[in-house]
Amino acid sequence: MDPKTIVTNQKAWYLEGHTKSYDFRKDQLKRLKKMLNIYEEPILKALKFDLNKSEYEAYAAEIAFLKSEIDHQLKSLKAWMAPKKVKAPLTHTGSKNFVQKEPYGTVLVIAPWNYPIQLAIAPVIGAVAAGNTVIIKPSELTPTVSWVIKKMIEQFFDPKFIAVIEGDKEVTQELLDQPLDYIFFTGSVPVGKIIMEKASKRLIPVTLELGGKSPTIVNRDAPIDLAAKRIVWGKFTNAGQTCIAPDYLLVHHEVKSKLIHAMKKYMTEFYGPRPLENPDYVKIVNDSHFERVSSYLENGTVVAGGGLDQKKRMIEPTILDQVTWSDQVMQDEIFGPILPILTFDQLDEVIDQVNSRPKPLALYYFGDDEHDQQQIIDRISFGGGCINDTLYHILNPHLPFGGVGESGIGSYHGQSSFDTFTHEKSMTKQTTKFDQNFRYPGSALSLKIIKKVLG
Ligand code: NAD
Repeated sequence: MDPKTIVTNQKAWYLEGHTKSYDFRKDQLKRLKKMLNIYEEPILKALKFDLNKSEYEAYAAEIAFLKSEIDHQLKSLKAWMAPKKVKAPLTHTGSKNFVQKEPYGTVLVIAPWNYPIQLAIAPVIGAVAAGNTVIIKPSELTPTVSWVIKKMIEQFFDPKFIAVIEGDKEVTQELLDQPLDYIFFTGSVPVGKIIMEKASKRLIPVTLELGGKSPTIVNRDAPIDLAAKRIVWGKFTNAGQTCIAPDYLLVHHEVKSKLIHAMKKYMTEFYGPRPLENPDYVKIVNDSHFERVSSYLENGTVVAGGGLDQKKRMIEPTILDQVTWSDQVMQDEIFGPILPILTFDQLDEVIDQVNSRPKPLALYYFGDDEHDQQQIIDRISFGGGCINDTLYHILNPHLPFGGVGESGIGSYHGQSSFDTFTHEKSMTKQTTKFDQNFRYPGSALSLKIIKKVLG
């Protein structure tokens, strides 16, 4: 079916009201979970084939993440759906005032390739919980996963409710020309701008989950060994192809060599002395990304890793020292297993440097002094992050996840997903038992009363 027909059918079916009841939403969320259970093996195999993800990494970061998101929605859905009573001023005496939670209608979810199952299905969970119909456009760069997504969704759901359209940017552009009710995009900053421009033609609301360069700051009072362990984990998981991975390090010059030494220890502990031969080490998604990421090895000095295997499309976990802000590796989002290091003397200097660049999606700060921690939280704008850890904030369903400025618009996960896909319809249900005359022209009391009540 072509994009136009799918959108037309979904919109008509939505207007028939099928998706609105609590029971329907609950059953469909359970169905999504059943689908993930039944398709667990094909999903794991597809992730291995497209990205060489290990079973552990694939299960934890993709399948388990989605199942716990479904459970979280199921637990609170009824309460979130309930109309929210609000107070009213004296002028509204006799009326009932409430916010009605209304689905948008037909939602388009556009997904990237780096966590191709999680990032395609997590927004669907929110959209379904909120009572919408959904069209998923998976990434064409992970074609096996894209095929599995299409197959499992088609087996479990009517395309009038959830449909999958595979393809590249031409297909996406065609979808974006349709009268959608909401667009949820996860991907790069340049494509995010294209999506927003397209959406603006029809004034379609958007969530943009984008990327950028996420700094990791290590101060001299940081617990260095633990910081090294958590940074190595956050950076090299999925071979650095994680939107919230530490992109680069800003390290106090007094602790730099100690930190590098400890990071090397953990790189070997986690990936072995020869990561390119590690059967579980994730590969780079395609040749052009391999070329792009490996070109950064020309910047600075390699102090750990640096090895490549073009045939396997693998790049060793690598640390680059002697890097400057003007090097290419500090201009682009790296999105690969290369970690450049810059040094600093004063925290103020770091705050100024980060603030002079686009607002990051994530920021990580390592250091024990609480005043310094608070300075980072108060003075730098970024999507979200951790003090003394990396990535962990994304695993808490009670925290909204999203960017700010160039790293994105809007957020999701947990209640934030439900809210994202829900329009808050403001209602006043007026009494007909009496009528207060002060609002009408000619009422002698009107100006006096309005001044008294409204100020
Ligand atoms: P991308 O922007 O190239 O592609 C994302 C999606 O957009 C794909 O489905 C693709 O087919 C589609 N697309 C590509 N070009 C298009 C165009 N011109 N018009 C319409 N659609 C188009 O991103 P990617 O390479 O798949 O993913 C990597 C990027 O995504 C990184 O920047 C990363 O930081 C970001 N990302 C962000 C998050 C987040 O949650 N904020 C998560 C993962 C990845």
